[in-house]
Amino acid sequence: MAARVVTLTRSEPTILERLYLPEIFKGLARTLGHLLKNLGNMKGLPTIQFPEMRRKYSERFRGRHILKTREDGSLRCVACYMCETACPADCIKIEAGEHPVLAYEKYPTVFEIDLLRCVMCGYCVDACPKDAIWMTKDYELSFFDRKSAILGIPELTEKPSDTDAAGPGYGYRPYEGESPMKKAGQFEPSGIPLLPALQERGLAINRMPPPPPPRPAAPPAAKAG
Ligand code: SF4
Ligand code: SF4
Repeated sequence: MAARVVTLTRSEPTILERLYLPEIFKGLARTLGHLLKNLGNMKGLPTIQFPEMRRKYSERFRGRHILKTREDGSLRCVACYMCETACPADCIKIEAGEHPVLAYEKYPTVFEIDLLRCVMCGYCVDACPKDAIWMTKDYELSFFDRKSAILGIPELTEKPSDTDAAGPGYGYRPYEGESPMKKAGQFEPSGIPLLPALQERGLAINRMPPPPPPRPAAPPAAKAG
């Protein structure tokens, strides 16, 4: 069977098509259409006018970390290394010192988080037995150099600005969304206080009087006869 040959004649583009003018005008018309439509519905715009406007993020948002403090202002952290061990990015560095309150035993002399390595997984929050490390909704984590991305104790310690009306607010934290205490209305936004019994024990140990001095050795008994 003989092959059927179809001959196509390609039309030459016009001068306007060569200059892409129809496509340019179509694009401009589409943009202008969106502009006019949005001008009539400014409140319905999906765009967030950052930084004046901010999106409302979930209560479980994993942003910058904070270290929680006790009522006396000291860090809750007891330098147990659980968060450092659980961290998959190896970005937490802790050095422990002896705490003057015996019940606390240890406290961090160095506590650093390298936010350029952090993957914001929240494992450190989950691992902490003292609810000492929380996350905030602060996502503005840009730095000019690597050194300033390593947050130490002064930067990590919770500040009032973290939770005031203009602050980022708490993000991922222990028991978020699943706390029996929270369900019972007992959850405190500032954190769960140290168990009173433990606190009392710590104070009691520190109030204990020093041990009495050793008694002088008794003189040797005189031999009879
Ligand atoms: S959020 Fe994850 S990666 Fe970041 S410090 Fe905590 S455990 Fe490490
Ligand atoms: S797990 Fe909690 S208490 Fe232990 S070192 Fe980390 S922050 Fe401190």
